[in-house]
Amino acid sequence: MDKIKMTTPLVEMDGDEMTRIIWKMIKDELLLPFIDLHTEYYDLGLEYRDKTRDQVTIDSALAAKKYGVAVKCATITPNAARMEEYQLKEMYKSPNGTIRAILDGTVFRTPIVVRGIEPTVKTWKKPITIARHAYGDVYKASEMKIPGAGKAEIVFTGEDGQEVREVIHEFDGPGIVQGMHNMEGSIESFARSCFNYALETKQDLWFATKDTISKKYDHTFKDIFQDIFDAEYTIKFHEAGIEYFYTLIDDAVARVIRSEGGYIWACKNYDGDVMSDMVATAFGSLAMMTSVLVSPDGTTEYEAAHGTVQRHYYKHLNGEITSTNSVATIFAWSGALRKRGKLDEISELEDFADKLEEATIETIENGTMTRDLALISTLKDVNTVSTQDFIKAVRNRLESKLAK
Ligand code: NAP
Ligand code: MG
Repeated sequence: MDKIKMTTPLVEMDGDEMTRIIWKMIKDELLLPFIDLHTEYYDLGLEYRDKTRDQVTIDSALAAKKYGVAVKCATITPNAARMEEYQLKEMYKSPNGTIRAILDGTVFRTPIVVRGIEPTVKTWKKPITIARHAYGDVYKASEMKIPGAGKAEIVFTGEDGQEVREVIHEFDGPGIVQGMHNMEGSIESFARSCFNYALETKQDLWFATKDTISKKYDHTFKDIFQDIFDAEYTIKFHEAGIEYFYTLIDDAVARVIRSEGGYIWACKNYDGDVMSDMVATAFGSLAMMTSVLVSPDGTTEYEAAHGTVQRHYYKHLNGEITSTNSVATIFAWSGALRKRGKLDEISELEDFADKLEEATIETIENGTMTRDLALISTLKDVNTVSTQDFIKAVRNRLESKLAK
């Protein structure tokens, strides 16, 4: 069989620890035998980030912007322990944060649903994708402890020196205040990324805030979404047969629990933080969550939602056999290859991505899986396998699919 040819390079961002090991296994077993893989490689492993003083992360994000599609391995976000472990020159920022800042994107997280790993919520049949606005609100707030009686105000001073004031509260004793902000430009980018991703994945888009209580702050989010939808997306959504649906956040939560799934749920920053963990846990496993960063200009970066699985890596270094789940990382590659195929009109590449995903899902549904899934599977006969053997099992299925 001839290998599938690529025209435009895929931006490949390598990473750390156990996921770096898995990354190579996936390439060797599932990609290189079938594709003339054309990537522009960036090593975001912590050692090389340190060597380049994190320039490699910035370069990789700029390359993603240039070529439009990237695939990323999980990476270490340095903390005090990592400074010591890797003898780092600086405590670098999270690569995901750096890349997101350059691409100005929104992160969409979607669970991979397989038979035998049943969601806690019985009505859920299809995945629910959470889109989290990743700027501002309580994450960039200023806070103050109020020592005793007095008046707290919000003051805005324009460039011309004009002041606008609003009383927060007349305190008669100690208390607390918080001032948070967001920017119209950031909310607009968020809205466009969500509308574009809904069109791309042909799913309804839900958005919710608390605009009845927050009549200026949350209401601005609601208005910006609605204005952009009316001006730019009404016809496109109609043609795609999908809907944009706005409701209050508490109503949204109730509807989500009663729903079948199969839509994108756009959340403000804090709601997204909380709801993505709830949705991931209720669908079964963090190791089965994919994550896609989509910028308003359409640049797309695919990755797994989990981290570098450090505990397994140290077992691996000790020569022990690991059973680490590679599914979300496989889907990062299939997502990126499908997107590259779509943009470059290489249908073989899209077809390959479909078959790779089918082979992965069927392997699990036929009872072969890693330990994390075996522990929660409802299947009767489960064959718990190692990291390597799972990937080999997927390869066997993939080969027979491609031979057809
Ligand atoms: P983690 O790597 O997601 O792993 C936490 C635990 O979850 C693991 O110890 C394991 O549980 C389980 N787990 C996660 N993924 C799994 C998989 N694919 N297969 C099987 N089990 C899996 O989170 P962490 O240990 O908090 O973070 C480790 C490093 O990852 C940190 O340096 C952090 O900065 C980084 N991180 C990176 C990203 C990213 O690049 N997007 C995201 C999050 C964290 P058991 O040990 O019980 O088996
Ligand atoms: Mg969180």
